Amino acid sequence: MQIVMIGTGGGRINLVKQFRGTGGFRINGSVSVHVDPGPGALTGSLRFRQDPSRLGVLFVSHSHIDHCNDANLMIEAMTGVALRKRGALVAGASVVDGMNDERPISKYHLSKLESAMALVAGKSVEVAGVKFTGTKTKHDDPTCVGFVLEMDGEKIGYTSDTEYFPGVGLQFAGCRYLVVNNLKPKDNGIPDHLSTDTAIKLIGEAKPGAVILSHLGAAFVRKPAEVDAQLIAEATGVKTIAGKDGMTFGDLGSRRKVYRLEDCEEEEGKEQGDDKEQEESKEIGKNSDENGEAHS
Ligand SMILES: [Zn+2]
Repeated sequence: MQIVMIGTGGGRINLVKQFRGTGGFRINGSVSVHVDPGPGALTGSLRFRQDPSRLGVLFVSHSHIDHCNDANLMIEAMTGVALRKRGALVAGASVVDGMNDERPISKYHLSKLESAMALVAGKSVEVAGVKFTGTKTKHDDPTCVGFVLEMDGEKIGYTSDTEYFPGVGLQFAGCRYLVVNNLKPKDNGIPDHLSTDTAIKLIGEAKPGAVILSHLGAAFVRKPAEVDAQLIAEATGVKTIAGKDGMTFGDLGSRRKVYRLEDCEEEEGKEQGDDKEQEESKEIGKNSDENGEAHS
């Protein structure tokens, strides 16, 4: 099993500035699953050699544009440029069925999939040997859903966008990895999302093997996310990594750095360009406005 972070940014400012990519992440096991294809999911997948035509399942947690913008594109890729019926969509109800006369995935693209299933909190669906159990969120798309994914004997959790509520972390008990959408740094929280303060509470309940922080907002351009990852690790005792675009976690061989679950330390290889890109992002971010992340 392998997790490849395609785009570790989130929020409205990141969405248009692209300090970090916003393409979500991919889980590769006996089936490949792309999670939350925001803007850049397609180009980011190609950049990190994650062929989208080989995806078996597309997961879209909710209808906000930083999670679903590239969903139609990814379906084009999954279905051989829409020439054959293939692949599955597992998603929040607002994505599968539409909401308020909005529909993030066209009916045309839905028709090209073998199946499209709405996932709701507390229920499970199974497709191509992958089991998704929906996890409850508190977010301004009320159908937004996270998951516990089970494949090849492993459990991976994804919070999606949520604010903290008591017990939210208990849904992820037993996960080897937990991807946490931590939009905001410490002392800078907003409604509907996690910040470092509330992520600590969630992770303290969940106690996963390791945490990957993703969906990091523009405020993390000025404040390195590694600082808050360290705060979370110290407060919870859980190994916590601030995701960077292209980071790869897991047990399978890769030409990129691979972070093992057990130690989350660099194992092999060196991804070229990461550090340079981060430095460039910091420069650009000096003038950015970090407010206005709501509804993302
Ligand atoms: Zn959202």
